Amino acid sequence: MLPSLFISHGSPMLALEPGASGPALARLASELPTPKAIVVVSAHWENQELLVTGNAHPETWHDFGGFPKALFAVQYPAPGDPQLAAKVVGLLQADDLTARIDDQRPFDHGVWVPLSLMYPQANIPVVQVSLPSRFGPALQTRVGQALSSLREQGVLLIGSGSITHNLRELDWHAGPESVEPWAKAFRDWMIEKLAANDEAALHDYRQQAPNAVRSHPSDEHLLPLYFARGAGGEFSIAHQGFTMGALGMDIYRFG
Ligand code: ZN
Repeated sequence: MLPSLFISHGSPMLALEPGASGPALARLASELPTPKAIVVVSAHWENQELLVTGNAHPETWHDFGGFPKALFAVQYPAPGDPQLAAKVVGLLQADDLTARIDDQRPFDHGVWVPLSLMYPQANIPVVQVSLPSRFGPALQTRVGQALSSLREQGVLLIGSGSITHNLRELDWHAGPESVEPWAKAFRDWMIEKLAANDEAALHDYRQQAPNAVRSHPSDEHLLPLYFARGAGGEFSIAHQGFTMGALGMDIYRFG
């Protein structure tokens, strides 16, 4: 059975400058059985409702500005999977979650940047599920649980966000050895609670975790972690690191 994964996708430039986490993603993919399909919840599709991509040929969306031209030339032509999308909607509805197909949505960079490093051939179908962020961690845990059975059917479930994400506090010149203590303290608290499987504390992280609001001024980049945890099994760490002083690059595995 495949695990579910939480991936810190970093800056979009990761696609061209993979640093330490690119090889970690490639290694993780090579250790897993090849998935039949992939379902991703990305921090970059915030929405009020649960939508599922039904497009058979989603485009690669360069949903950012101010980066080099070469990044805008990167394409990730993985197919969609309308049949799997319908199944995802069915599983969510069976769990009393309202969901519907969106047949226009392209892949945002939270999807294609990490997948371009894990599965560069872009030959595995990908379906994306939106992130109704205002409903917080508890909804993401439920969405993950509702889709968990897909792992037995060869589907890899991924939450793509960032373990810490305060863009205003990044030092764009900092090397990988420089880490802000407040960001590390937050990350370490999350790991401790994940390892202890302390769902109550994890759901209440904004009150309980050190530097929670500083680490996530808004929490859309953390919420995909709850999807991955809800979908998966036992927690383990696949990769740890920081870039730009405070941008967490951790990758976690559940199951
Ligand atoms: Zn992002």
